[in-house]
Amino acid sequence: MNYKAQKVFILAFCSIFMVIGAVAMLVSLPQFSLFGIVWGAGFFFIPLLVMRGRLRQISLFSTQTYDWYKATHPAQVQGNRLSCFACGNSRIQARALMNRTFHREHFCTQCGKTLYYSPEQS
Ligand SMILES: [Zn+2]
Repeated sequence: MNYKAQKVFILAFCSIFMVIGAVAMLVSLPQFSLFGIVWGAGFFFIPLLVMRGRLRQISLFSTQTYDWYKATHPAQVQGNRLSCFACGNSRIQARALMNRTFHREHFCTQCGKTLYYSPEQS
């Protein structure tokens, strides 16, 4: 999983829309064209929010891995057995996050805490 390439792609993709939105706002402002300003603001701020959310998600996936969990909570990992750092339960399940994230979330079945994330193809 190449997280850096994903980040660059998100940045580039959202920037295109944000540039269009910024230009639309700049053109509309002197004319007091409310439609243009709202339209431009939408094009500017929606990709900004999407970008922020996706980048946060990617950084979560790239940092909170199985190895990270092992290093952060060594007491909860005994060989192949894993337990929850919050309640100590050892029933951990994985669910696919969908929404084209291609990642699974590993969570505790007792308290619902998310323990770590893993890419789907592994
Ligand atoms: Zn738990």
